[in-house]
Amino acid sequence: MKIVVIGSGIVGSSVAYECAKAGAQVTVLEAGRVAGATSSISFAWTNATTKFPRPYYDLNVAGMRAHLELRRDFGITPWFSQTGSVEWRNQPEDQAAYLENFRLMKEWGYGVDWISRATLAEMEPDVNVAAIGDGPISYFPEEGWIDPALYCAWLLRAAKARWGAEVHEHARVNAIETVGGKVHRVRTVDGTSFAADRVINCTGGWADTVLGDAHGIPLASNIGVLGFTPPVALTLRSQLHADDMDIRPDGAGRIMIHKISVDSTMKAPDPLATDSVQAQALMAAVREVLPALEAVELEAVRTTVRPFPADGYTCAGAMPDISGHYMAVTHSGVTIAPYLGRAVADEVVRGEIHADLETFRPERFFQHRSAQAETTEA
Ligand SMILES: Cc1cc2nc3c(=O)[nH]c(=O)nc-3n(C[C@H](O)[C@H](O)[C@H](O)COP(=O)(O)OP(=O)(O)OC[C@H]3O[C@@H](n4cnc5c(N)ncnc54)[C@H](O)[C@@H]3O)c2cc1C
Repeated sequence: MKIVVIGSGIVGSSVAYECAKAGAQVTVLEAGRVAGATSSISFAWTNATTKFPRPYYDLNVAGMRAHLELRRDFGITPWFSQTGSVEWRNQPEDQAAYLENFRLMKEWGYGVDWISRATLAEMEPDVNVAAIGDGPISYFPEEGWIDPALYCAWLLRAAKARWGAEVHEHARVNAIETVGGKVHRVRTVDGTSFAADRVINCTGGWADTVLGDAHGIPLASNIGVLGFTPPVALTLRSQLHADDMDIRPDGAGRIMIHKISVDSTMKAPDPLATDSVQAQALMAAVREVLPALEAVELEAVRTTVRPFPADGYTCAGAMPDISGHYMAVTHSGVTIAPYLGRAVADEVVRGEIHADLETFRPERFFQHRSAQAETTEA
């Protein structure tokens, strides 16, 4: 079976790897460079906490497990730091939801426990415990973070070396062509065309684009902003999550900072300067918690699109438009990708349907249209 995977972010790389492993002849077509879009500007926290409702939580847990299981394929997983997360809430109005989430996560068997201030101070001496308020502190030992560019590089290299997959960078797809309503070829903007029995659309924040005979899905994407410090001599290992702040080490001594309130200032993924208002807001937040950063300024601020299917949930399954067109698009893609890749390979290559993907099918975006068509016809 010839499979063309469009897009080589963390989702496309996972899908390509698993389909090649399952025996398909895989070609990846990437408009830019491998992992050069959203996946490289992601907080990349592997987690399932606060991911409701239950089927979406389960999908994220499956992703966390699949990250661990990749070690069996590679022996080492240098892209994965399973360092655990520390979480608290400063604002009194956020406490009730925080406590309820802790209760529910415990009930669902998720790894979480309360820790004392003394334990946090011992674990993370760089953290100013006085700055985190009086509320309870939770610890999630199974969570971690991924370096998505490394992940994609390792999976695609393995797909090429072990199973002969092809990866074409700077190969933007502009048309999926059909014969008799079935996927037949995929054409790139330079006119090159690739034979395909199946096409798997992993274009993330661009999945609403019509590609020749193939529809996109409706998206409700928004903008994400991340700040990066220069290398600093801290020993911080855990991720830190508060009401409106996420902090984590990002390798080589750099600290990554995120604030939802900064994301919401952006209408488009425009570049931001390291002395912009947004950069200052990120640094002001992190300095309270990590006082050693008092005299440190951001080295880079990066902005990108967060890919959200229109209702916010994963979209995975055969598209109703043409036969052989399959969609795999999701937020929380860093967490979910290794499981999604496996599930897509099971469905497309092995013909094994995943019941746990039933609530995430693309049809949900097209039911309204087909109901309308039926009404018009009637
Ligand atoms: C600030 C921020 C924080 C986040 N935090 C987390 C987190 O903590 N945990 C988590 O799990 N997720 C997080 N996410 C979400 C996660 O990063 C994404 O869900 C994930 O990276 C999506 O991967 P992808 O492969 O679908 O998309 P991408 O990485 O964007 O890959 C899609 C690729 O398709 C290519 N493409 C598009 N159109 C075409 C075309 N016509 N032809 C060929 N190629 C094409 C693009 O060039 C791109 O490389 C975060 C996102 C952001 C922005």
